[in-house]
Amino acid sequence: MSYLRRPKKNRMEKMNRIKVIGGGLAGVEACYQLLKAGFHVDLYEMRPAKLTPAHATGGLAELVCSNSLKSEDPCTPQGLLKAEMRELDSLVLQAAELSKVPAGGALAVDRSLFSESVEKLLVAAGDLQIIREECVTIDNNTIVATGPLTSKGMEESIRAVTGAKYLHFYDAVAPIITAESVDMSKAYYCSRYGKGPADYLNCPMNAEEYKNFVKELVGAATVVLKSFEKGDVFEGCMPIEVMAARGEESLRFGPMRPVGLRSPDGQKAHAVVQLRKEDNYDSMLNLVGFQTNLTFPEQRRVFRMIPALANAEFVRYGVMHRNTYINSPSVLTSCLNIKSNPYVFFAGQLTGVEGYMESAMTGILAGIHMARLQKGKTPLPLPTTTMSGALCKYLSQATDNFAPMHVSFELVPPLQEQIRNKQARRQAYAERALQDINKYRKTIFAD
Ligand SMILES: Cc1cc2nc3c(=O)[nH]c(=O)nc-3n(C[C@H](O)[C@H](O)[C@H](O)COP(=O)(O)OP(=O)(O)OC[C@H]3O[C@@H](n4cnc5c(N)ncnc54)[C@H](O)[C@@H]3O)c2cc1C
Repeated sequence: MSYLRRPKKNRMEKMNRIKVIGGGLAGVEACYQLLKAGFHVDLYEMRPAKLTPAHATGGLAELVCSNSLKSEDPCTPQGLLKAEMRELDSLVLQAAELSKVPAGGALAVDRSLFSESVEKLLVAAGDLQIIREECVTIDNNTIVATGPLTSKGMEESIRAVTGAKYLHFYDAVAPIITAESVDMSKAYYCSRYGKGPADYLNCPMNAEEYKNFVKELVGAATVVLKSFEKGDVFEGCMPIEVMAARGEESLRFGPMRPVGLRSPDGQKAHAVVQLRKEDNYDSMLNLVGFQTNLTFPEQRRVFRMIPALANAEFVRYGVMHRNTYINSPSVLTSCLNIKSNPYVFFAGQLTGVEGYMESAMTGILAGIHMARLQKGKTPLPLPTTTMSGALCKYLSQATDNFAPMHVSFELVPPLQEQIRNKQARRQAYAERALQDINKYRKTIFAD
């Protein structure tokens, strides 16, 4: 499907060359959109001469770990994201079609064929020059998509355009659960000693519950860190299981401190887990201080031992890993260009999204928005009713505790009518999103 008109030749000659830095999932999508819009694109990719600690080849869009691009069902966040990306003519999803392998309801690919297909489709799309070298400068008319393992040389330039304090080098995020899955008969809102607004939801535990919880937490299985993730990157931010292993009382003097948090009927708990609101729709809650390296199944098993969280539904699991990303809410607009210079865009995991498809999606959008800007038009943010638009809104507006995020139904605004059945609700979200992205596509390419 090609919906972008190619500019007439005399207009093309006047067009700027656009620089895209990083030939990963985001970078190739950005290039593709720009090429189709008729721009000359210089794509800088430092591999194979200089590899990251996770990449092994010189191939574009190398999948560094799993070969699964996750669900195809539009009633899941990942499936809906893909349906939206197809509306916007995703290069990565075209390449996935050409290289897919059987994987039930998921989309999985043969990784080398996938990478080859990406390169073939990209080269055929227009006036592309692939420059196989590390790029360390950010000029105007540039999309930066250097990923979670951005080269050292590029870090200085990112600092210069974003501000030094806005560049992070690792994730240390606590799990997020849905608000509706908390058992409110076992939790209560209050502030410590009644000071300030009662913003935190408190989940109390008695002595026996606490003791069992600590025992299971300390013995739980953790993720094996890759060699480049070891070292002192996590200094100053201790995983909850490491803190618990220091002694049975440690958590009661740390994130589970119960003092000043009496329940509405005046009861004093032995320990308290505090949950903080994560979004404006009050649909997601963060387990405060629970950054962890536990495996995902172990997080489900152990954190559900907290009585109010027995049925907790996880929106995002806790992780602690090496990951370069910028503090997007301080730096970016919802169209992914930087507030201080609209001609510089960021895309991919560097913006604080998590996941292959999320990274690719931000590449599509950065490409579309850059093309509009170059043609003298205003970039238009996606409707927030779409998975993609909701994630971009999160990137530009999340609060103080910004942490990388993947797609989730909890990010999109609630439906106008309340639908109790979860499957029917998701279906309604998907229909609304696909209608809205279809309208968006027509608007954006009509003018
Ligand atoms: C070890 C690891 C495993 C992961 N596993 C998964 C997984 O299984 N599933 C999942 O959904 N997500 C996973 N992710 C997260 C994420 O989805 C991927 O990292 C994804 O590839 C991010 O896309 P990107 O385009 O932002 O970055 P990348 O795909 O990493 O692309 C960035 C590109 O920029 C290049 N580059 C860097 N600096 C420069 C420079 N200065 N000049 C020129 N080129 C440069 C790099 O060589 C790279 O090709 C993983 C991340 C890591 C680090």
